[in-house]
Amino acid sequence: MNSFYDTHAHLDDPQYEQDLPEIIARAIAAGIDRIISVGTCLDSSRRAVELAEQYPCLHAAVGWHPEDALQAPADLRPDLVKLARHPKVVAIGEIGLDYHRLPSAQGGSAADDARFKTRQAEIFRQQLEVAAELGLNCIIHQRASFDDTLAQLQPFAGRVRCVFHCFGESVERLKLILATGSLVSYTGIVTFKNGQNIRAAVAATPLDKFMLETDCPYLAPVPHRGQRGEPAYVKEIAETIAPVKQCTLAELSAATSRTARDFFARLT
Ligand SMILES: [Zn+2]
Repeated sequence: MNSFYDTHAHLDDPQYEQDLPEIIARAIAAGIDRIISVGTCLDSSRRAVELAEQYPCLHAAVGWHPEDALQAPADLRPDLVKLARHPKVVAIGEIGLDYHRLPSAQGGSAADDARFKTRQAEIFRQQLEVAAELGLNCIIHQRASFDDTLAQLQPFAGRVRCVFHCFGESVERLKLILATGSLVSYTGIVTFKNGQNIRAAVAATPLDKFMLETDCPYLAPVPHRGQRGEPAYVKEIAETIAPVKQCTLAELSAATSRTARDFFARLT
């Protein structure tokens, strides 16, 4: 059987509280035998680390999501460093900038927007500093903030590599990312009927420059679209991507697994 990594899952999500052992068992049965559970705040990062301690196939990424930037402590670094030193932590993430839902869209002012963006940039920078200090790479979340995200990463070029997770941008932007030495990863959106632009990006991505992920419980691929996602569904994502790359599943397994082991510290 071809084995794949799920490089981005949120297994600390309350939706998995009842049946996580079954979820993990189904993933392993489907050949998804390495999973990275990604944190979105200190609590969720802590839970991701605890899960990684319980399940040999699980690793953790620790970080604070930009959407929750206003709830972050003034200085995230001390707590994040402590978590990130854990032997099963393989990256800092998910971190970045998200301008999709700004306060002004919900009755806030332009000043509220500016404050939110500034706070996002502050905690993003703090977390990049931690990554550089500890020699870890980063999982990047960006939405409607592509140029600012690249600008924030610029001072860390050569010290921190990134994966732009759930990539859904143009081929031009893909090339900008790859030129910085960073990577992308693809979710179940690639299987959606209206995912032509994603499949075009996949076609343009060299076989050794991308990884696979579910972002579960979100973005379940066809035929599970709209339901709770789980790591086993990397199989459907791989089955969609292999023909786009005109390669076999075995070749896709070998390439994406090598890329993941090379990108994520301490990943076996
Ligand atoms: Zn995520």
